[in-house]
Amino acid sequence: MADKFDVIVIGAGPGGYVAAIRAAQMGLKTACVEKWVNKQGKTVHGGTCLNVGCIPSKALLETSHKFIDARDHFGEIGLEVGDITPNVPKMLEFKESVIAKNTGGISALFKANGVTALEGTGKVLSNNKVEVTGKEGEKETYEADNIVIASGSVPVEIPPTPLTEGLIVDSAGALEFTEAPKRLGVIGAGVIGLELGSVWSRLGSEVTVLEAMDSFLPMVDQAVAKETQKLLGKQGLDIKLGARVTGSEIKDNEVVVKYTDSKGEQEQTFDKVIVCVGRRPYTQGVLSDDAGVKLDERGFIFVDDQCRTSVPGVFAIGDCVRGPMLAHKASEEGVMVADIIAGHKAEMNYDAIPSVIYTSPEVAWVGMTEQQAKSEGIEVKTGSFPFSANGRALANNAPDGMAKVIADADTDRILGIHIVSQHAGELIAQGVIAMEFGSSAEDLALTCYAHPTTSEAIHEAALAVDGHAIHMANRKKRK
Ligand code: FAD
Ligand code: NAD
Repeated sequence: MADKFDVIVIGAGPGGYVAAIRAAQMGLKTACVEKWVNKQGKTVHGGTCLNVGCIPSKALLETSHKFIDARDHFGEIGLEVGDITPNVPKMLEFKESVIAKNTGGISALFKANGVTALEGTGKVLSNNKVEVTGKEGEKETYEADNIVIASGSVPVEIPPTPLTEGLIVDSAGALEFTEAPKRLGVIGAGVIGLELGSVWSRLGSEVTVLEAMDSFLPMVDQAVAKETQKLLGKQGLDIKLGARVTGSEIKDNEVVVKYTDSKGEQEQTFDKVIVCVGRRPYTQGVLSDDAGVKLDERGFIFVDDQCRTSVPGVFAIGDCVRGPMLAHKASEEGVMVADIIAGHKAEMNYDAIPSVIYTSPEVAWVGMTEQQAKSEGIEVKTGSFPFSANGRALANNAPDGMAKVIADADTDRILGIHIVSQHAGELIAQGVIAMEFGSSAEDLALTCYAHPTTSEAIHEAALAVDGHAIHMANRKKRK
């Protein structure tokens, strides 16, 4: 038997690496096992998020956004740039350098905090034993008082469009195209479909998004979703709702995708297709038969509100457990679990987890939609404000979008804030803080916001809840 630890974390994505660092900061002897090997054959930390998810996708989103801004919008504000061409291989190089800096940063943080980095595949043998199988197949068993499983998720594959090298790819493949495909099919109008569809549309692809559901972004307030759909449509994304993919065929290096919609059977030919219809928990090889850790009916590791599994001393966090598949949700669970193991009281507020779609403009939200609240029988009052009436947004040449505050009609407590605008992902933090502190719409309305900022649109939306937005025709007189 090798070393004994207070905590062994399996997986070094944003769930696992944060749990490991926090546990070490709490004075616990901690190890983190990771099996991700990069293109150079090196074990790297950061998981999906840093290697093929949040970070690389944002590098491509930002560079492709800058290209469109310079090409189509700089002239509007008096900046003549002449011809500007995207250099996709260079963009990929930049993306790789961003990945390397981020993953290297985590390894450095492990060293700085005294986390032992174990390379290989970790398997829970029992409530206090983890077996690690190295790259060459060598095995070592470690003892730990506590185990945290943070094994993440992988893309869902669907039988009608099996992944086919270079033609039908998942999200990781779509971060590697060396040029913009002429005709790009995107299956699924979820977060990945809209983000990566936007990247390649900006770089020159004709993008068609096939979405099985009739509604667009059902998790977003429908006023904000409608505005988003309109804006993305104007940018050239052809979003077909109610289009259920039924099959595909490869012909002459092209992909013919078959789908059904309200008009019946349809087909469309693409040069490349991205399948992004969701992700599923990844637990393959993480649990031995004797471990006793139970899964739920959808294959997630079953946990309680504090991420305890069915086996005492074994916790699970992040994408491999219930809840939104988001990096920051995984990280917060990591902090909570490390604190619990260190003997502190800790809990998470699952009602105040923000979500962001990094399109342009961005879509960001926290809490309930108006539709959701009403379906739960909650009477609501709402206030909306358009960015076209916000001075800073006009000065930024970014007048698109709106902010909406949803409050309980009886108590005025904020139930949700939904935004589509430039930098909505930054703006939403104030909504999260407001909800975390149980604020009312009036609390936000009575807060002094700096001028000129796009945040003032949130202030105005909060004022509008009682019909008193300043920069909009007033709807109500105060009683
Ligand atoms: P992961 O990041 O998947 O990490 C799990 C780690 O565990 C991996 O490194 C894996 O190799 C390792 N592992 C698994 N099994 C074992 C084992 N047996 N032994 C050792 N190691 C093991 N989320 C956001 O919040 N914002 C975004 O902008 C965003 N963008 C995204 C863009 C894309 C294209 C994708 C695909 C995802 C995006 N996500 C985003 C989702 C985000 O990446 C995940 O929610 C997040 O990575 C989950 O963290 P995790 O630690 O639970 O799992
Ligand atoms: P998603 O769940 O966001 O969207 C999948 C979409 O595919 C849904 O709208 C679904 O109706 C549709 N769909 C399912 N089957 C289909 C079919 N057969 N034909 C057509 N459409 C079909 O999933 P995703 O976009 O793959 O993203 C996976 C996860 O990664 C998400 O849970 C998300 O939270 C996370 N992620 C987050 C970010 C971010 O925070 N910015 C970015 C990327 C990914």
